[in-house]
Order: sequence, then C-alpha cells, then structure tokens
Amino acid sequence: MNQWQIAVDAPITKPLTYTSEDPSIAVGSLVKVPLGKSNRKVFGLCLEKTMDNEERLKTIAHVYQDLPHIPSRYVDWLSWLSNYYKHPIGQVAKLLAPPLIDKKQGRSRKKSPIPDVEPESIAELNAEQMAAYKSISASNGFQCHLLHGVTGSGKTEVYIHLFQQALNSGKKGLFLVPEISLTPQLLSRFARVFGDQLAVMHSQLTERERTNQWLSIVEGDKKILLGARSALFCPIPDLGLIIVDEEHEASYKQEEKLKYHARDSAIMLAAKLEIPIVLGSATPSLESWQNAKAGKYQLHQLQLRFNEKSLPQIDVVDLREHRPAGLPFWMSQELHDALVQNLKNKEQSALFLNRRGMAPSVVCNSCGHTEECPNCAVALTLHHKHHLHCHYCDYHKNFNETCSACGVGEVIPLGLGTEKMQEDIKEMFPEARVVRADRDEIQSREDMEAVIQAVESQSVDILIGTQMISKGLDFPHLSLVSVVLADIGFNIQDFRANEKTYQLLSQVAGRSGRHNTDGRVIIQTYNPNHPCLPFVIEHSYEAFADRELLHRKELLYPPFSRMIRIRNQSIFAKKAEKNIMDIYNWLQKAFKHYQIENDVQILGPTEAPLFKLRGKYRYHMLLKVKNKKNIHSILDQLLANDALFPSGTKVLIDVDPIQMG
Ligand code: ADP
Ligand code: ZN
Repeated sequence: MNQWQIAVDAPITKPLTYTSEDPSIAVGSLVKVPLGKSNRKVFGLCLEKTMDNEERLKTIAHVYQDLPHIPSRYVDWLSWLSNYYKHPIGQVAKLLAPPLIDKKQGRSRKKSPIPDVEPESIAELNAEQMAAYKSISASNGFQCHLLHGVTGSGKTEVYIHLFQQALNSGKKGLFLVPEISLTPQLLSRFARVFGDQLAVMHSQLTERERTNQWLSIVEGDKKILLGARSALFCPIPDLGLIIVDEEHEASYKQEEKLKYHARDSAIMLAAKLEIPIVLGSATPSLESWQNAKAGKYQLHQLQLRFNEKSLPQIDVVDLREHRPAGLPFWMSQELHDALVQNLKNKEQSALFLNRRGMAPSVVCNSCGHTEECPNCAVALTLHHKHHLHCHYCDYHKNFNETCSACGVGEVIPLGLGTEKMQEDIKEMFPEARVVRADRDEIQSREDMEAVIQAVESQSVDILIGTQMISKGLDFPHLSLVSVVLADIGFNIQDFRANEKTYQLLSQVAGRSGRHNTDGRVIIQTYNPNHPCLPFVIEHSYEAFADRELLHRKELLYPPFSRMIRIRNQSIFAKKAEKNIMDIYNWLQKAFKHYQIENDVQILGPTEAPLFKLRGKYRYHMLLKVKNKKNIHSILDQLLANDALFPSGTKVLIDVDPIQMG
C-alpha cells in the first residue's frame, strides 16, 4: 500500500498520512482527502511518500489530474514557511494552489488585467545601469543581490534587461512589487516590453482572474509574473530570476494568518531553487544593508539619476517660527511662495500628508472630552464635517457640535487631514486645478489610473495625497513636493521609527524634479532638529544607515538579533493579561531548561500600543533572540501546550515582526 504524507487544509500543524493506489500521485500532487469524523473532503498537497505502516488509514479521495504537480523544491520551501512562521502546513500549501481549484476553467468576462498597449523596445542602458546589469547577470546559482539606486536612477530598466536575459536563456521571471507601487505606470511599461509573455497578480483581481493568471504561468503560456506579495506562491516552472522591488516596504509583510515576509521568503525560495534574486531600493531596509556590508549580499549601486539630473533640493521649514498671517496654520510662507511660483510657471506640485479626513480628532472646548471609538482605543476622525469615523474598525456616527459628555461645550476639530488641506488650498488658490488621492477618493485601480492620467496630461496643478502618492510615481512636470507635517510618524513606538521616517521622506522627495525641471522639496515640521533630517537633506542614505545600525547594535535590535512578537487578545482584559503572564512564565522556564536565558531577552509583557481594537484587549511581549538555537522547538512546544491557549483568548506568534501596534 502506498502511503503519503499530506498537508491538509485545516488548522493542524503536522501533515497526515493517507493511502492511495493511484499511480499518478507524486510529490506535489494536489488532492482531496477525507477529514474528521464526518469525512468532509478538504484540499491537500502531497509532501512525501512514507512507510508508517499505520493501520486503518484513510484513502485519498480525489487527485486533481488536470493540474500540474507543484515542483518539489516549492514543496520543500512550503515546509520551511510553515515551520519558520509557525503556521499550519496545509494552510500554507493551499496558497500554492489556484484559488478556484474546484470550478471548471472558464473565461473571465472582465477585460484582461494586462493593459493593451503599443509595444516598445527595451531601452539602452547608461553606463551605471550597464555595469550593474553586467555584474548581476554574471552570477550563477543562488546569489542575493542588493541594487541600491537613488530615486529616478532607472532601476526598472535594469530589471527589464535582467528579465530579458532570463527569457533568452529559456527561463521565467518573478517580479514582486508592493501592492501600492503596482501602479499603472509600471504595469504598462512591462506590458509594452514583454507583451503577451506577461502575467499579473494583485489583490484587485477576482478569484477567476487570479486563477486564469495562475494557469497561464503554471502551464507555461506566460513567462514573466508581475505581482504583489501573494504572487510569490504561484509555482513557476523553470523560474530563473526573482526581483523584489522596493524591498524595504513594510507591505511585504503579511499581518494576518501566515505572517510571512515576502522578501525574506523570496530569498529562501531562490536559495531552494538555486537561482539569483535581486532586491532593489533607493532606501534599503537596514537588514538588507547590513547583509550587503557583511558580504552576504552583493551590492550594486546607481548613484545618479538616469538623465544625470541632480536629486532635488530639500529645505526644512520650522513651523514653530511660523505665525500665519492670513494663511492656514499648516502653510508656511516658503511653501505658499513656492506654490505661487509653480502655478505661474505651469509646473505641478504635490502636497503629502499621511492622514485623511477633515481632522484626526475632535475635542470639546469646554470639558476637553475627545470623541473615541467605543470598540478601539483611538480617537475618531472627522470626515466631511458631519461624520466621525474609526479608521481601524469602521465604526461611524454623526458629528454633533454639542459635546456628548458635558452637554454644553462646543466640539472642535483638531489637526489636519487631506480633506481639510484640499479645502484650504481651494480657498487660497481658487483657480488651481486640485486633485486628491487618498483612500476616501481612490477606491479602485481605475480611480488611481484616472488620477495618474490627469497628472500626466497636465490637467492638474496641485496633487494632494497620502502614502498613495509617496512612491513609484514618475511625473515629468512635478517639480515641487512638500511633506506638510513631517512630525506624523516621528514618535511611533517602534525601533524602526527612524528608518521608516528616513525612507518615507526620501521616497516622497524622490518624486520631485525627475525629468525636465529642477526639483524642490519643502519639509515642514515642528521638530527641525529631528536626527533623520540632516541625512534626508544631504541624500546620504549610507551615513544614515551606518549611524542607525550603530544604535541597533548597541541595543541589540534587528539585524543584530532576531525578534519574535507574541501577542494575545480577548474581550476580557483580565483574561488576556493572565494568559500573557502564563505564557511569559512558561517561556522563562523553557529558556532555563534549555539554558538559553542569556540568548533571549524578553521585553514585556505589557499592554500593546493599540490596547483595545475591535472590542478586544491586547497584550504583547517581544523576544529579542541573539542565538536562534532551540527557539523554534521551544515555540513548537508552546504551540502544542493547550493550557496556554484557553478558550476566549487568541494568541498570535509573529516571527520577524514589522507591525508593533
Ligand atoms: P527608479 O525606479 O530607479 O526610481 P525609474 O526606473 O522609474 O527609476 O526611472 C526613472 C525614469 O528614467 C523613467 O521615466 C524611465 O523611463 C527613465 N529611464 C531610466 N533609464 C532609462 C534609460 N536607460 N533610457 C531611457 N530612459 C530611462
Ligand atoms: Zn474602532
């Protein structure tokens, strides 16, 4: 009797053993198996043949004969993912299958997700690009490359040449980009060059479309897959090259279920497949930078913008010294003058603010009461002047000008959001054509396309937006960019706060002056002495990184340690608190037992920064791991200890966490 280890789509850590006489079954087969008392049929993936000789094994119910096997190296990789990120193996396996595995193939009635564009030949590289291309393409087998190129240096063209080379040698390519920078601009550049060899995958596709794209890649019709992080799970035959653009982006980390980091998982996949991988960024993550400095990654640099235009001039304006005379509190004289000048010159300007709405909070001018969300420990945001909204759980209610707490005071909006900014701009510059890009205005890819089209065709003078406009965009006539309140984000409780600030400010600045005119950037702040600012102004990523790495080393933060976050939640605060203490005590004992007390430091447990979210109270602790030895087996034992998972509480383990809320 043939026996197979099957990763079964259910919340169980280990594979289960089944039998089958079907000769077509092999490692990587997609199957259906009976599960539990009811023998309901669930998805499964064949991991390996075993000889358990167990009695009374169940039989594999169905084999998806029409679908190809998942390549065995992908099967290895999936076991790694499951073990490293502590997620049930069958639920990881499910990600490798097409979303509509049970429905018959059919055509999508929507138009193809690949834009229909005129073909374009691939551009000739300049000297710097050529040097980077040559040294990357010379590598054989597994090698991780870091392509550090300033904004506008033309990293995309280097990627295109590398993919072309992979195609020429009969290989396929995977291009990962953060969801947010999967802009129509990038997509159409790739569509022009690779034509009908291109497939795409992102969160806006329907399951039908995703399935069609999956099949077109797996069956070999398409040869380059461009996609957001989940595209990593499409098993690509003859994959020869992976490129991860904007590798520093936090959105590569999935925050729920399988809490994987797509960059790190891509590196692991490349290692298993023995192929090269390229990480690209103007502001690399400190993890990648440290690996390059230590010689683990090969570093390639593009120091100049491709057209040798200089990087924009960056001025910091101290808002404390600013006493508005007829200007809103957030608009300095410098920014005002620069906007006037740009309007006169028919150049475009962009105003960046990482907060949408009219005001981030409202407060009573008599008793000081702040309107808070009843489900979350956060203030409600004012929208459209009459509507209060929680950005975490979607709770909303009408805005009442009389305070609900004291019944006499007047409730006033505090602070600034993009909606208010747009209103102020319209008042100051009634002639200007203004467009806003934030989550209230942009609900679909088509909306974003329309904004980009409007800016490209120069029917917009001032673009206002949140992080939606902070990266990836390439507008020839955009010559003034302002970060309106840089202070948002300065003080977040996160050891990466400086790194994130540096990256955001440089990326926003990088949108300015990319083509014809010299670019200018105005950063407004109440903290002009913030330690990141001198490095941003000088465009000196390396000096910034070296300084920051020194701090990380002193405090033993990543990349000089590994971090694991353990968080729990319950509708009862007491229950969550007791549970996190139980876990803490258990861990202390386990560390002693394995004699690794000195290799692991526990921060906390404490209330999570976002203490209450969607009606649940949250606690967490952070493990700083100096030496990984034994830690994974300790976590496995923890997960197997039912006493630490009482009903009514939920415990989440996040390996290499990004989100600290
Ligand atoms: P990055 O991603 O490094 O910020 P991009 O790849 O967006 O930069 O390139 C910036 C601009 O320069 C784009 O408009 C791109 O078309 C143009 N560009 C880059 N390299 C070349 C090249 N070799 N020939 C022509 N245009 C180029
Ligand atoms: Zn809420």
